[in-house]
Amino acid sequence: MDGCIFCQIRDRKLPAKLVYEDELAVAFEDLNPQAPTHILVIPRKHIATLNDLKPEDETLVGHLLTVGKAIATERGIAQSGWRAVLNCNSDAGQTVFHLHLHVLGGRKMHWPPG
Ligand code: 5GP
Ligand code: ZN
Repeated sequence: MDGCIFCQIRDRKLPAKLVYEDELAVAFEDLNPQAPTHILVIPRKHIATLNDLKPEDETLVGHLLTVGKAIATERGIAQSGWRAVLNCNSDAGQTVFHLHLHVLGGRKMHWPPG
């Protein structure tokens, strides 16, 4: 989608440290990491928010979590623990309106989240 920075990263029009990609998803390092591991996993398909999910996106969203698990395993944080975050709209702090899964780990996480 025009003007979407994550579509531009997907299309290599904006630089990012890519860590994984396949036919459905792309993963890259967060520009402003909040933990030693902070990776964003996005669907190749532009979906603005969780509110825009359609029934046919169910497999795709499950795939984002499977990619997150693989990244956590590869980074050595699967056993110590990691957090999967999907922010939706302003009260949750969503700032980029292309669905993305945050994969956070490598430090103790706080609960409840702020
Ligand atoms: P949100 O607050 O929407 O859930 O998360 C957006 C995330 O995208 C933030 O953690 C922010 O640091 C990250 N981000 C914003 N712009 C860029 C960018 O241009 N490149 C990368 N790699 N991350 C970005
Ligand atoms: Zn997009």
